[in-house]
Amino acid sequence: MNFEKFIRDIPDFPKPGIIFKDITPLLADPEAFKGVIDEMAEKVKDIEFDAILVPEARGFLFGSALAYKLGKKLVPVRKPGKLPYEVVEVSYALEYGEAKIQMHKDALEKGEKVLIVDDVLATGGTIKAIQTLVEKLEAEVSGIICLIELEFLNPREKLDNVRVESILKY
Ligand code: 5GP
Repeated sequence: MNFEKFIRDIPDFPKPGIIFKDITPLLADPEAFKGVIDEMAEKVKDIEFDAILVPEARGFLFGSALAYKLGKKLVPVRKPGKLPYEVVEVSYALEYGEAKIQMHKDALEKGEKVLIVDDVLATGGTIKAIQTLVEKLEAEVSGIICLIELEFLNPREKLDNVRVESILKY
C-alpha cells in the first residue's frame, strides 16, 4: 500500500523553515492505519523484545495498536509532570534549549528487551534519549520502528548498534 499520499506537508510548522509531516490524514483512513500497523508488525517480526516503549504523544498512536496486535507490554515515555509514580529522567538537547523525558522507575525489568515505536524519526535525539533512559533501568533497546524517517537529518548516525526500521523515508 502506498502510505505516502496520507502524509501531508505543512510548511513553517511549528516554526518558520520547518516542513512538518502531518500524519493525521493517515489516522483518518482506517485501511491505511491498519496497513501501517500490519507492516510495522511484519518489519519487527525477527526482532526479539518484551516491551514496546512509546514517546508522548504520537508514539502512543502507533505503539499501542502494535502492542495490541503483537500482545506485548506497553510503556509510556512522557514529559515531566505527567507520570504519577516515581520516575527516572533524562535531559537532552533540542535545537534551542533542552527537553526532559521520564518513565516510571519500575516500568522495565533488568535485562528486558524493548522496541521503541514513534511516528517520525527526525534528528534521532528523542530516541537516543529514550535509549539512555532504558539503559538507566538496565534494560536494552533491541529495535526502533517509525512510520517516517527523515533521512536527510541523518538520525541513524546517533543510533548506531541498534536495528532501525521505517516505512517511509524522505
Ligand atoms: P527527533 O528527536 O528525532 O529530532 O524528533 C522526533 C520527535 O519529534 C518525534 O517524537 C516526532 O513525533 C516529532 N517530530 C519531529 N518532526 C516531525 C514531523 O515533521 N512530523 C511529525 N508528525 N512529528 C515530528
